[in-house]
Amino acid sequence: GHQLGGRYEVIERIGGGGMALVYKAQDILLNRNVAIKVLRQQFVHDEEFIRRFRREAQSAASLSHPNVVSIYDVGQEDEIHYIVMEYIEGQNLNEIIKERAPLQVEEAVRIACQIADALDHAHHNQIIHRDIKPHNILIGRNGRVKVTDFGIARAVTSTTITQTGSVVGSVHYFSPEHAKGVVTGEKSDLYSLGIVLYQMLTGQLPFLGESPISVALKHLQEDFEEPRLLNPLIPQSVENIILKSMRKDPNERYQSALEMQTDLETCLFPDRLQEPKAMFD
Ligand code: ATP
Ligand code: MG
Ligand code: MG
Repeated sequence: GHQLGGRYEVIERIGGGGMALVYKAQDILLNRNVAIKVLRQQFVHDEEFIRRFRREAQSAASLSHPNVVSIYDVGQEDEIHYIVMEYIEGQNLNEIIKERAPLQVEEAVRIACQIADALDHAHHNQIIHRDIKPHNILIGRNGRVKVTDFGIARAVTSTTITQTGSVVGSVHYFSPEHAKGVVTGEKSDLYSLGIVLYQMLTGQLPFLGESPISVALKHLQEDFEEPRLLNPLIPQSVENIILKSMRKDPNERYQSALEMQTDLETCLFPDRLQEPKAMFD
């Protein structure tokens, strides 16, 4: 296998999207597995892509949270730009949805809860993920959720909207404001999380279309089929969370990831909010 940085022995390819390829590798120095994301060859002479790739590493590295994939190292060797990160043994959520959606309500809510926790942490650090979708959610063998791919994440304060090339991100998870092309904030991530929860529980996407434009227009204009009509096992309380996170008007959504997480937790532990009864009987 190929060796990088005099330290990482590449084992096999495990994934990759439009911008990068992801490999499993062995860190020889620390004797542990790592995942290495490598900027695709066609972009290595494009300064904009190199900047974007570095920004991805910086956004992710500024976070430290059990539900966010940890960044260990970055480097460049000749034309190979790479990010070394925590290796997650398991599956991405897209594979799980394809394999066995609709998921059990408890499992889906547990997953959404951990994503909300990761978003709360990112938002508190002024990072908007902007590409929340099942491919970017890794589920470890222990069931622990790890959010990855801060490839198009932006600092909230950043005003740079330089976006060359094709559409970045998946239009199926775009918020209406993202679809319109206006600057997006925290609530855009919450909308995307609502779609992920919808998909976990119904096995379907709320909006489908012939082209990215037609899907984007549906986010802006159309109502989606209510989750409970597709899966009657979904409790009303969970449907309410999906509906609130997927409101077209960002002001009508949850005010924060924490607020959404709190509602999700209440679905998991409904007793918590009740009076302790037996105590003084
Ligand atoms: P996209 O087209 O979504 O932008 P990308 O090139 O940015 O893709 P990632 O989304 O970071 O790449 O990773 C692609 C896939 O590689 C993931 O869906 C996952 O299956 C796998 N993968 C990524 N990071 C890890 C990791 N740290 N541990 C294990 N597998 C990973
Ligand atoms: Mg990705
Ligand atoms: Mg990406």
